[in-house]
Amino acid sequence: MTTAADGFLLLLKNEPTLMPPAPRDAGPLEHNRRLQIGVPCLHCGQRARCAFVYASEAGSRWLDLCSKCTLWVRTEGTPKWSLL
Ligand SMILES: [Zn+2]
Repeated sequence: MTTAADGFLLLLKNEPTLMPPAPRDAGPLEHNRRLQIGVPCLHCGQRARCAFVYASEAGSRWLDLCSKCTLWVRTEGTPKWSLL
C-alpha cells in the first residue's frame, strides 16, 4: 500500500532539486549549523528539527524536516525508502 508519506518521498526521489544542495561529507557540525539557521521543514514549512543528507542522482541534498514530519515519514512511509 502506498501512503501519503511514500508519495512525498517518491516526489523528492524523482525531483531531488526540490531539496537544497548539501556538502557530500556533511558531519554533525554542518547538521547543527543548518538547524540553527532556522530552515523550514520541506513538508509543512515549520522550523526543521532534523536535517538528513540524501545522496541523489543530482548530488547530495538536504532533507530538512520538523520533528512531526520526521516521525510521519518514519512511521507511515514504507521502509524501502533510503532517504532517511
Ligand atoms: Zn514538518
